Amino acid sequence: MKKIHLANISSATRMLHTPYPTADAYNALSMPVYHAVAYEFDTAAQMEAAFTGKTPEHTYSRITNPTVQYFEQRVKTFTKARDVIALNSGMAAVSNTFLAIASAGSNIVTSPHLFGNTYSLFAFTLSDFGVETRFCDLTDLDSVKANIDKNTRAVYLEAITNPQMEVADLQALSDICKKQGIPLIADTTIVPFTSFKSADFGVDIEVISSTKYISGGATSLGGLILDYGTFDWQHSPKLRPLSGLPISAFSIKIRKEIHRNMGACMTPQTAQMQTVGLETLSLRYHRAATTCRTLAEQMQRLKGVDAVSYPSLPDNPYHAVSRKQFGDTSGAMFTFELPSREAAFNFIDRLQLIRRATNLFDNKTLAIHPASTIFGSFTEELRRSMHINQRTIRISVGLEDADDLFNDMAQALAH
Ligand SMILES: *Cc1c(COP(=O)(O)O)cnc(C)c1O
Repeated sequence: MKKIHLANISSATRMLHTPYPTADAYNALSMPVYHAVAYEFDTAAQMEAAFTGKTPEHTYSRITNPTVQYFEQRVKTFTKARDVIALNSGMAAVSNTFLAIASAGSNIVTSPHLFGNTYSLFAFTLSDFGVETRFCDLTDLDSVKANIDKNTRAVYLEAITNPQMEVADLQALSDICKKQGIPLIADTTIVPFTSFKSADFGVDIEVISSTKYISGGATSLGGLILDYGTFDWQHSPKLRPLSGLPISAFSIKIRKEIHRNMGACMTPQTAQMQTVGLETLSLRYHRAATTCRTLAEQMQRLKGVDAVSYPSLPDNPYHAVSRKQFGDTSGAMFTFELPSREAAFNFIDRLQLIRRATNLFDNKTLAIHPASTIFGSFTEELRRSMHINQRTIRISVGLEDADDLFNDMAQALAH
């Protein structure tokens, strides 16, 4: 197994060459898919040591698996997170995180601008177990402060909300959280960690749907929980009993209890595909996000388009905070508004190249009308409270040539 001795190599290079924890039997250059359920031991004493966590051997693949662990290790090498846990979907990452920190009688402070299933998790699933969610405007810091009380277990947000395209100031929210002794948890699916270092802005726990950019072109469902080890869990009533190790209490709770009990582990086949996805992540993201910014600019000038939302556009209300947090681009998704729901449906029906599908960050460009699909089973009243508009179209930009995408959108509008 090759060890890298070069000093000063970038984290991207280091990630590509992350060593295996143990030598592969055949010196395979890419991590094999270990489709094994159980692992054998020579003695009862060795079994006891592994099962009680005194030695690092794998015992059973719902708990750890070599291929999945290697994927986690690569993410860790790149992000410098203290612990990384891979799960079988983004929703598993979100739900396991809250199962670890919340309990009946406690509350979460967040925005109504959330991914549809995350909203549903808070509003319906967790509320059945006595966890309250307080939806407020996270760009209004006074409102955030007013909603936090002694039972608040986290402030949670999405780095760019979808489809509202709102960007909250993470550092400002982190300052509030630090004063109150609660963690800041962010879903950063929309801008990958190769471009956005959420921990630099005070995010303690990052959750990601690796289904999106990381999977390498819609190859597989997956989720990640990244614990940066920046929160002192002595402040958390639920995790305080574990707080002999105040920095790692969350990871221990997730790994040793929640993850095992919920069984939402990533499969080895997925881990292998997503490990390959990681190798091209920054290249694909750069290409798609640059095309996205170009298209958003061009769409602003097209007749018949009422408004275009992309935080990196100079006239966008979140331009400054977006630039500070994400750099020159802000994801590979933008939205625009047409005069009516009928116009939006007609536009989607006339597309010839762009695909009619949900999902984000496939290598192919996708269009969807969020109000009638992702949020289609919500009441109109609920949609209104989430600012989901019937006139909005969402475009997830892929790797095609920008001109081809623009021409398709222009012809779909021309009628
Ligand atoms: C897709 C998505 C999720 C859910 O991820 P799955 O992998 O589909 O479970 C959560 N948050 C955001 C922002 C997403 O885009």
